[in-house]
Amino acid sequence: MKTILSTLSLLLTLSLATAQVKPTDTSTRGKTPALPEFSLSQAEVTAHLKFLAADELLGRMTGEQGNNIAARYIAEQFRQYGLKEVRGAAGYFQKVPLVKINPPKEAIIVWDGDTLRQGKDILLLGGDALTVTASVVFAKNGIVDEKTGRDDYAGLDVRGKIVVVNLGSAEGADVREAFRLRDSKQKAAAERGAVALIELYNASVAWNFIAQFANRQTMQLATDEPKMNYIWLNDGSKKYAELVAKSAPTQISISTSGLLRQSVLSQNVIGIIEGSDARLKDEYILLTAHYDHIGTGIRPNATDTIFNGARDNGMGTTAVLAAAKALAQKPPKRSVLFIALTGEEVGLLGSQYYAEHPLVPLDKTIFNLNIDGAGYNDTTIVTVIGWERTTAMQDIEAGAKAFGLGIIKDPVPEQNLFDRSDNVSFAAKGIPAPTFSEGLRSFDAEISKYYHQAADQADENFNFSYLRKFCGAYIHAARRIADRPEKPRWVSGDKYESAFKKLYGEKETK
Ligand SMILES: [Zn+2]
Repeated sequence: MKTILSTLSLLLTLSLATAQVKPTDTSTRGKTPALPEFSLSQAEVTAHLKFLAADELLGRMTGEQGNNIAARYIAEQFRQYGLKEVRGAAGYFQKVPLVKINPPKEAIIVWDGDTLRQGKDILLLGGDALTVTASVVFAKNGIVDEKTGRDDYAGLDVRGKIVVVNLGSAEGADVREAFRLRDSKQKAAAERGAVALIELYNASVAWNFIAQFANRQTMQLATDEPKMNYIWLNDGSKKYAELVAKSAPTQISISTSGLLRQSVLSQNVIGIIEGSDARLKDEYILLTAHYDHIGTGIRPNATDTIFNGARDNGMGTTAVLAAAKALAQKPPKRSVLFIALTGEEVGLLGSQYYAEHPLVPLDKTIFNLNIDGAGYNDTTIVTVIGWERTTAMQDIEAGAKAFGLGIIKDPVPEQNLFDRSDNVSFAAKGIPAPTFSEGLRSFDAEISKYYHQAADQADENFNFSYLRKFCGAYIHAARRIADRPEKPRWVSGDKYESAFKKLYGEKETK
């Protein structure tokens, strides 16, 4: 099956190279050929993709030179197409301050005669250098929640002490919840004057897996995080839970060199096209795609060390560039804000930063059509994650149809893709925000062959003619949404509906 597929796409690519693509092919004939998206040149989208996915850019890793070169390329295309700069993004760059964090050189806990070490028995998740011996206070799960009135610190004095808590919010907590609660737990303990917080790890996910995952370099937005030590301790045997339960006066010693931090500066690339309608131009459609990828590295049995990120997300970036050109040539009624986002692969950081530091008002930003994808295994469709969740679904479908493409909704909801790309940073603010993705039917071998692999490159396996249709479909969908009289909404009952009402000042109707 795979061989047939790749031979087929090779043939397609070859036939493209020999035959000039006509501006109106059969799939678009008779629609609205005057619009620039219907005369997208194959050479132009191919050129964008080949540049962005070139080996010379070394996988566009956030904070590294290849990423900066990609950003420069995008900015200068914006300039050439006539996009305006937005206040706060001079030269089309919105600076995004980040911090690279590495595990401590050393972290040791001595408790009940045991010496527990970083990476093996414990993981320092937050905090600076510290050497302390202090008594222990047990604070259940360490949760303080104003909404529910829960206060696990009620009646406890933890000043100058080491707080020990159970994982998550209740017995049998899962790891995802534990990760989600990290910041609020650290904050609660720090505000009450604790010197350190130790969380006892006993979830079903193996400790070794967690240790491998957490004991490596990460990146964050450069915000003021609490400096208090926050440690996960492997307590699969429940030994330490029993020790604290006995409530005998216990002392613990902690000694660590602290997390290693290094400032990194990256950038979102932002430009704007003013809408053509005197009234609607005060509203904005936000078109986004992350341009960063995962850099370089070594994988078992591989010689190629450059992760070019052609599908993820050279395709999306190319489509945003093509949209910038086509929509500048014939602006829709509403204004269009274009953002090529950085830092997606290291934690959706560029979109998070923009959502916290918007350059046009968020309550005037009525829709986000993001692009991201793991790759494609069906080039007759586009897959739109969250397609059925907003009232713009017909416009998105019409965009795809105009380029001969079908549309499917998220085929793998269990993977939670909606909340794993940049659209979620805007959705969480209330903005209707689906992600326009390459044709994905399922996570099969064809997808994993390329997804975050060195093979995801602009070579003969890449379907350039699909790229052109994909770009056209995206632009036409965006144009229809920017032109439609009614603002799109989440369908009623969606989990982001109340954020929507809050953002746009609508009353909750219960
Ligand atoms: Zn991606």
